[in-house]
Amino acid sequence: MTLRLVCGSANPDKVAEIQELLAAAGVLLDPRPGGLADVAEDADTLEGNARLKASAVARAAGAAAVADDTGLEVGALGGAPGVRTGRFAGEGASYADNVAKLLADLAAVGAEAPSARRARFRTVALVRWPDGREVLAEGVVEGHIAAEARGAGGFGYDPVFVPTEGDGRTFAQMSNEEKHALSHRGRALRVLAERLAGAVSGG
Ligand code: IMP
Repeated sequence: MTLRLVCGSANPDKVAEIQELLAAAGVLLDPRPGGLADVAEDADTLEGNARLKASAVARAAGAAAVADDTGLEVGALGGAPGVRTGRFAGEGASYADNVAKLLADLAAVGAEAPSARRARFRTVALVRWPDGREVLAEGVVEGHIAAEARGAGGFGYDPVFVPTEGDGRTFAQMSNEEKHALSHRGRALRVLAERLAGAVSGG
């Protein structure tokens, strides 16, 4: 049986990744219902925000919806921006604004000391059915913030995030497949797909 989920994310960059990752796991992604307003992401946890998005879309579509919420946690900044990752440089901030603020905030830390610039991405991916049932998974990737932006791929903070398990390139210097193999979202969605297979088959 093919599982179909409605997309709970409105960010086209994330939708493209979620689509690729779920397709690889044999899950079909239906588009977010047109005309549905953006969901205010005002919970104080990634899980809470993922739930707000997935619940709103599941209710509107009358079908199971998947959403993810992602935070960047930087050690030298006490775990910030965390749940405020999308609006680190202020409401409506662009990706470039957020990256510029991150590099400025880390300027004092020293550009050449990866250990002092340690960071991780954390994603919570959640499927919610209209009746309130849920399946949830988390994915984490450890890394550090580069001294300056490198690469043209990916989105968001990808030009400054160097995964520890990689070869020194930022996510923005990798192919989509290379990023998915290591990334927070890749990990979360692969675990989610396994759990969904168990939930759907009653396991
Ligand atoms: P969201 O709350 O999950 O939509 O993500 C918040 C912000 O995190 C986005 O606006 C991006 O700036 C950033 N972000 C999310 N996922 C990624 C990623 O895979 N790479 C780089 N930045 C990301």
